[in-house]
Amino acid sequence: MTEGLTRRILHVDLEAGSLSIETPSESFYRRYMGGSAMGLYYILKDMKPGTDAFSPGNVLTLMVSLLTGAPISGQSRLCANARSPLTDGIGDAQAGGFFPAEMRFAGFDGLVVRGRAARPVYLWLHNGQAEMRPAEHLWGKTTSQVDDLIKAELKDDKVEIAQCGPAGEKLVRLAAIINMANRANGRTGLGAVMGSKNLKAVVVRGESKRLPWADPRRINEMARQGASEIETNADMLGLQKLGTAGVVAFQHTIGSLPTFNYAQGQFEAFEAISGERMSDTILKDNDTCYACSVRCKRVVETQFGDRPVARRHGGPEYETIATFGSYCGVGDLDAIALANQLCNEYGLDTIGTGATVAWAMECFAQGILSEQEIGFPAAFGDASAMIRLTEMLARREGFGDTLAEGSRRAAQRLGKGHELLITAKGAEAPAHMPQAKRSLGLIYAVNPFGADHQSSEHDPMIEDGAGELYMKRLARLGFDHTLPQNSLAADKVRYALKTQQFYSFLDTAALCQFVWGPAWTLYGPDETVAFVRAATGWEDFSLEELLEVGERRLNMLRLFNAREGLDRKADGLPKKFFRPLGGGGPTAGVSLVEAEIESAKDEYYRLAGWDTRTGNPTSDTLERLGLGWAV
Ligand code: SF4
Repeated sequence: MTEGLTRRILHVDLEAGSLSIETPSESFYRRYMGGSAMGLYYILKDMKPGTDAFSPGNVLTLMVSLLTGAPISGQSRLCANARSPLTDGIGDAQAGGFFPAEMRFAGFDGLVVRGRAARPVYLWLHNGQAEMRPAEHLWGKTTSQVDDLIKAELKDDKVEIAQCGPAGEKLVRLAAIINMANRANGRTGLGAVMGSKNLKAVVVRGESKRLPWADPRRINEMARQGASEIETNADMLGLQKLGTAGVVAFQHTIGSLPTFNYAQGQFEAFEAISGERMSDTILKDNDTCYACSVRCKRVVETQFGDRPVARRHGGPEYETIATFGSYCGVGDLDAIALANQLCNEYGLDTIGTGATVAWAMECFAQGILSEQEIGFPAAFGDASAMIRLTEMLARREGFGDTLAEGSRRAAQRLGKGHELLITAKGAEAPAHMPQAKRSLGLIYAVNPFGADHQSSEHDPMIEDGAGELYMKRLARLGFDHTLPQNSLAADKVRYALKTQQFYSFLDTAALCQFVWGPAWTLYGPDETVAFVRAATGWEDFSLEELLEVGERRLNMLRLFNAREGLDRKADGLPKKFFRPLGGGGPTAGVSLVEAEIESAKDEYYRLAGWDTRTGNPTSDTLERLGLGWAV
């Protein structure tokens, strides 16, 4: 076996109560590597088309990769996949923290979970062993309570725990899988899939932190060099100082800070919810993921009214600040920090939850939903109403039971509010506006798991004024000049697809997109290739192969959707995006143009090797990627 590979996948049959370990071949690892691609391999192979997301037949995979656990920044990521109860297509979500590295130290590269347990259980993976334990005493408990109970039960406070939270138990379609009580596999409702299987938690611990790296000296050199470069890299320093919240002001300036449920791109109170304000007021510390020198995670402590916000739930990211803040018209950082804590305690995706609450608020503002229907007035800017709706959604209480279905299904259930939706394939749009970043309009439409901001590089990285480092790195992907702002012409489409394939590799190799990437990150494309070689010993691994690995994952995700009947017709955008934005700033009066999006989709499918009529991968493309077996 090549150094760097542990090659152990745990198969869990919750129905039969059985556990078995598979040791796939090295060629399998080279083809699928880990993360979403490896998860999709088992999902495509084992799940029958037409299986409901909450049926025992749904296959849930939790994967790390053959790079996870290395002593270098940005390698501790967990990828979760299953059929999504939110989009009905493939679900996909990533999280950081210490859990992913610890899972590998525990001796496992991935879990494939099938069936439904008769009673709640948790999985305990330690030092190469795996067992299933009863979890009835944990059912109904919040994430921090479960963390405390399991650590006491196992008499080990160093175990890492990923769990579904009470929202997942209640099949809230916006439920996340939470680890460390503050890191989330947030998007597409995979916490609810875990809950539907009566799988309360996965607990991991490996006493030895040693993994068989092919070239440990090279990895250490790269780690040292990267850590020393943080000091001279403005993007990394900004991320360390202000976290992702540091982009609030920039997003406002370019008119890309979604406000009042995406009605406008600037928020008057943006300074009150900025990273700078957080840093000056409620920020108490930085946190990190395993071995990461960037340390971008926030730790806040404050209170909203008489409700305390504790450090153990971290602090709000940019997306959380925007969805509970500007989307809802709430300029109160304390309220946003409390909403963030509630999501981490109940196990909720902050993007989907905040955006769904904002949708309800706009319905209220427009008289589509009444005070009687909601239970109280829910005006934009009312921080207490925002908190109340979040808690009701988490518990499926009252009107919260409707919101717990996600905004698209809520509109269907109520028979109104459709025109205010900001969903693509049922996933609520994140806080980067395609009206300001044109290629995101295309990616939000064609991405297999719905609107997502971490599936491609954003437009400003290649626009006039893009830094020398960005352009040098993008040249390695075939882009030797800047591309105009507001363009969705062929060059921009190629940029969107090529960088999407790179990001798709990152979600296969389970790497953090703030550390490894095609443009602005600590390490660029060449260093990413060097890391794979040093970890695995695959000295002939190349940038071309890296992009092909990413392309393979993208095709697997797309193939899953094709089997479920989600094709080009499902690649739509909400009507709201085609209406001119209000407010001020550079995006006031701007909208997407339907004909431009459709023509960009034609070009995108053609470049991707997909049928332009159906949007599905062609058999030639699948054969080229070695995916003929999956058709
Ligand atoms: S950059 Fe931030 S999110 Fe990424 S690995 Fe480091 S600490 Fe975690």
